[in-house]
Amino acid sequence: MPDFPKPGILFYDITTLLKDAAAFRALTDDLTARYQDARIDKVVGIESRGFIFGGVLAGRLGAGFVPVRKPGKLPADCFEVKYSLEYGSNTLAIHRDAIGSGERVLIVDDLLATGGTAEATISLVRQLGGDVVGLDFLVELKGLKGREKLAGYPVHSTILYS
Ligand code: 5GP
Repeated sequence: MPDFPKPGILFYDITTLLKDAAAFRALTDDLTARYQDARIDKVVGIESRGFIFGGVLAGRLGAGFVPVRKPGKLPADCFEVKYSLEYGSNTLAIHRDAIGSGERVLIVDDLLATGGTAEATISLVRQLGGDVVGLDFLVELKGLKGREKLAGYPVHSTILYS
């Protein structure tokens, strides 16, 4: 979607896939098959589109679901992490009791761009003692090299754009 949310920005819109029953089913079947045997304890979804896939996947795997949200949205005690953007910074939060030490965690989001959001989420999970066993994205914008920030962690993306 060109010029969204501001002029000059090309936004990759996933709602066209979500509204297609067969495509959404195929995506969630594929996600489930990939992690079926990975002994995932918690799926962490990043606000807000990561909740859509993360929630479905957690249910299918028999894992718990944990939201990572913008500050001020989660009601209980939180850990927060601040990370840099091209212009300014962002903060993300997680409930302190969301993940137990040594639990196996999969991080899910709709899109990997610069990798800052995913990297910050890894640091939140690690602060809680979680073991990040992988990250999964629907879309990856390869040219922004987000994967380099996630070096050392298995990363899977379903749709790649250069
Ligand atoms: P990053 O931190 O990797 O630069 O940005 C990724 C985050 O921004 C993800 O949480 C993603 O939801 C959001 N995002 C950035 N650009 C887009 C886009 O074009 N389409 C969608 N769906 N999400 C985007």
